[in-house]
Amino acid sequence: MVNKIGSQLLDALFPHHCALCGLRSHREVPLCRPCELEMPVNRCCCVRCALPLLPTDEATAQRLCGQCLQAPPVFQRVIAPWLYEEYFAHLIHRWKFQREQYMTPLLATLWQDQVQLQEPVDMLVPVPLHWRRRWQRGFNQSELLCRQLQASCPELSTCKIAHRLVTRRRSTAAQSGISARQRASNLKGAFTVSKPCDNLRIAIVDDVLTTGATANALASALSAAGAGHIEVWCLARTPAPGS
Ligand SMILES: [Zn+2]
Ligand SMILES: [Zn+2]
Repeated sequence: MVNKIGSQLLDALFPHHCALCGLRSHREVPLCRPCELEMPVNRCCCVRCALPLLPTDEATAQRLCGQCLQAPPVFQRVIAPWLYEEYFAHLIHRWKFQREQYMTPLLATLWQDQVQLQEPVDMLVPVPLHWRRRWQRGFNQSELLCRQLQASCPELSTCKIAHRLVTRRRSTAAQSGISARQRASNLKGAFTVSKPCDNLRIAIVDDVLTTGATANALASALSAAGAGHIEVWCLARTPAPGS
């Protein structure tokens, strides 16, 4: 009887169902703890671009991937706490393509659960969509994420969200299914920064980092506008191609 009342109370307090298993989540967000514990975190990765690396005996604190050793990106580091695999892809798909915007607080919580911000930034820059794509989708997921992160992380309460600072000049071709080199050349000149960013510490915010080409093109534009430090904050990182 007591158990039954307890579980009815929990159901009333937390009405969400888990987005992965469908059972009651018993939390403020639509994901139950057991499912969250099964989602792989991106712990062993490149210190610069967060590309997942194979575990070795080497100290993980200083490891760089081959790409960053050869040609380091413009941004100083990437924070990408989760691996973009089956479970995360399902959450992102529901959020972005099925327009389930109540997933935004869940995704911000997942980011916050894994990240300890030591040095806050001055400005969050959501990766802009070209106006046509934004119109088709009805929202920019990176902008939603920026707002939710700011609302839920006290360290970010004074930082500015620059959602009009950068415009995406032309509709770039679909980025999936093409090589990293093609991506980079597609993105050349794609971003225009409207104001100087003198010595600002900036975090570019996006949902998933794949090759990093989009973030790097945006970081180049911000760096040319004078930004002093550029990081990329995203929810999840895809594994290296072929791994
Ligand atoms: Zn679950
Ligand atoms: Zn790297």
